[in-house]
Amino acid sequence: MAGLNSRSALGSRRLKAALLVGYGRSGSTIIGSALGSHQRLFNAGELLWLPRQIGDAECYCSCGDLLGECEFWGAVTKKLVETCGRDAMSKLRQLSEQFDSGRWTWLRARRAIAAGSAEAKDYAALNFALYDAISETAGAEIVVDTSKLPARALLLSHAEASRFRVMHLIRGHRAAIASLKKKYSKDPRAGVPQDLGGRGATLTSLAWLKWNLECEALAARMAEPDFQRIRYEELITDPKRGLSGIAEFLRIEPDGFSTRIDLRAQHIFAGNRLRMQTSQSLEPRKTLPENLTQRERLVGDAVTALGRWYYGW
Ligand SMILES: [Zn+2]
Repeated sequence: MAGLNSRSALGSRRLKAALLVGYGRSGSTIIGSALGSHQRLFNAGELLWLPRQIGDAECYCSCGDLLGECEFWGAVTKKLVETCGRDAMSKLRQLSEQFDSGRWTWLRARRAIAAGSAEAKDYAALNFALYDAISETAGAEIVVDTSKLPARALLLSHAEASRFRVMHLIRGHRAAIASLKKKYSKDPRAGVPQDLGGRGATLTSLAWLKWNLECEALAARMAEPDFQRIRYEELITDPKRGLSGIAEFLRIEPDGFSTRIDLRAQHIFAGNRLRMQTSQSLEPRKTLPENLTQRERLVGDAVTALGRWYYGW
């Protein structure tokens, strides 16, 4: 244990942010908030949306305030402006629209890196300044960013590999199909910023395959100690063991997590609607069979066959 602690201190001086990547509906909101219960981590949620949502009059933070009125994010913005200038948030918004939006983010990021793009360097510098501002405001060493986008991880790890680690969160495709076919009506206070859902099994399965392929391409470009794969199903059936593995990866104490998570004490402004609950528990639970039709199961299994073979499902 003493050896781990001494390595922890050394690692944490360097490490600034850990980004969760993976396809939507993989459980990143619950896992991000579980990580945020550790005093050395701060869960910032899906941070890539911050510059685009901070002026949104309908976006609520998990603390209960509107994002634009939340004291925590107000203090973060102030620090960012002090470090990077008055137009820091609008510049970050412009760069986020350029690199975090659309269907071809991965190719765009690869091209930008190959070309030595100044905008890609600005994107990374401003995002690391944002991580620093969050870390200082929260008083936590490492920011957990659950943005999920592999292209974002590629740009940030390329710029500052020594301060950045990536966790690939993977969950079975059937859970994604079952979740994305459900429809939710817009309800900002309940954490649903727009009408959601109603997506068919084929599109969801193709997207699941594409996102996980991008995560594997990212793994191939990162040093092994800086990238870790986390299987959602394994983590929720044995959270203590799963979180210990993450603690070792991030070089922090494994016994610092809480199984009862107070979401009102966190400031998650984007992600699954579950973020607007007051608390959540991370007790061990069983994975249940998804409610899918036979056609949805057949289509999903056929489209994702390559990925399922690779992951041993
Ligand atoms: Zn808040």
